[in-house]
Amino acid sequence: MKTDCPVLYIVVPCFNEQEALPQSHSRLAKLLDEMISQDSIAQASKLLYVDDGSRDDTWAIIEKLAAESDKVVGVKLACNSGHQNALMAGLSAAVSHCDITVSIDADLQDDINVIPQMVERYKKGCDIVFGVRKERKTDTWFKRTTANMFYGLMRWLGVSTIENHADYRLMSSRAVQALLDYKERNLFIRGIVTKLGYKTDCVYYDRSARIAGESKYPFKKMVNFAIDGITSFSVKPVRLVFAVGVVFLLIALIMLIYVLCAYFMGRAVSGWPSIILSIWFVGAFVLIGLGIIGEYVGKIYTEVKNRPRYNVDTTVGFDKTEGDA
Ligand code: UDP
Ligand code: MG
Repeated sequence: MKTDCPVLYIVVPCFNEQEALPQSHSRLAKLLDEMISQDSIAQASKLLYVDDGSRDDTWAIIEKLAAESDKVVGVKLACNSGHQNALMAGLSAAVSHCDITVSIDADLQDDINVIPQMVERYKKGCDIVFGVRKERKTDTWFKRTTANMFYGLMRWLGVSTIENHADYRLMSSRAVQALLDYKERNLFIRGIVTKLGYKTDCVYYDRSARIAGESKYPFKKMVNFAIDGITSFSVKPVRLVFAVGVVFLLIALIMLIYVLCAYFMGRAVSGWPSIILSIWFVGAFVLIGLGIIGEYVGKIYTEVKNRPRYNVDTTVGFDKTEGDA
């Protein structure tokens, strides 16, 4: 149920963010106070920092901030578990205390001034509001190009993602609850969120450079993340293997005709027909076999991910108290 003055939790995953955190905190705290004083969000709204097993003073800073203000809460993960897991930890800690969450990176590359707009969209009936960056001027050429290639590939593979949206988004508590029902280990949250089915909307902003510290997403982590995104949502790569197998089989049949012609015209060197036909036919059958096995492995993968089958939006006609859920 939507309220006019919702409790907002801003969830911020932090990994070795001692340089950025103090500055980020003061900006976020100022925004939160402003929104509370305008009655746009409830007094009980808070900033929730998740320390993802940092090796620097991040946790000490969070403890200090929490001691100074009742608007700050913190969760410390025992070891570095990765951005997506840290985000899940934060959302699951927040969900029972709030009506809405906004997740944002600690470096505040995403413009926090659109948070009030996100809350407005929530009040108009959206469960999920995506923060989408207008352009990538502040990213390096490399990051921009690889990101564009990635989104292109995802589109081709049929994975639904919102282009230029990272993990900056508002989610209602029921949307977070639905997200938490996805128990898979290889997390690609932005792919799951689009599958929840609730009403969504986008707000647009310009992304700025990191305020302090350096990126915690080196190239290797980015590649792993992209692979997770693709393999968790698409069976197209397996189907591709199968398709290549079928193409190989066609080539094998053409080769068969070609070899027979050559043989009867007396142009086939002894031993060549059997070798060349074996190569194409065996290659084709191996690939087709892999494709078939891949389909079954894909099915097993879907089963073990144990994703929820559906997500109820509203009900009508049940006992009033249940029906409002
Ligand atoms: N982060 C995290 N765990 C990690 C890596 C990153 O919690 O293992 C956090 C990090 O502190 C930041 C956010 O994830 O709040 C995004 O990281 P970053 O800004 O370095 O990524 P980039 O913007 O360069 O892609
Ligand atoms: Mg960043």
